[in-house]
Amino acid sequence: MRILVDMDDTIEQLLKAWLDAVNKKYGRSVAYDDIREWDISLPYPGLTKEQVYGTALEPGFWKNVEPMPGAPEALKKLMDDGHEVLIVTATPYMSVQEKMEDLLFKWFPFLSWDQVIITFRKQLIKGDVLIDDGVHNLEGGDYKKILMTAPHNRNYDAEAHGMIRVHNWDEILQVIERLKTEM
Ligand SMILES: [Mg+2]
Repeated sequence: MRILVDMDDTIEQLLKAWLDAVNKKYGRSVAYDDIREWDISLPYPGLTKEQVYGTALEPGFWKNVEPMPGAPEALKKLMDDGHEVLIVTATPYMSVQEKMEDLLFKWFPFLSWDQVIITFRKQLIKGDVLIDDGVHNLEGGDYKKILMTAPHNRNYDAEAHGMIRVHNWDEILQVIERLKTEM
């Protein structure tokens, strides 16, 4: 199968590092479970979107983002099993080089640049499956939809929208095994 895989909060823990950085810089204490929506500037009244979002654009930011537990091993296994794994990420162009060097190829050294697609329009990409925490990336796509649970999507009815909700990479591997037999 061709398996499309999101980066942020699917294979790595962006939100955690982002909250840490904003909290530290502006003396706040927003917790991971305080997040309710996609827009993470909402729990920071008094800060502008530019202040909150700009924090992730600062040099060195990606060095502090860690992989999701089990994600490197799982992606390696999927490739070893003969699947085509493509990273599909809506990364702003300013962040691409540092994010690739300091995060993707550091923690996932078996991936190469020709497996990376940068786009904000994931529905244009052809694949058998997309694994993503952003429901807006799954809705309307012509692929099987695996929703990685994240604080901003926990109240979303995945099943009603034809998606399979998962909570970790062990579950994802199980779902892929099941989908393989259905294709
Ligand atoms: Mg994401």
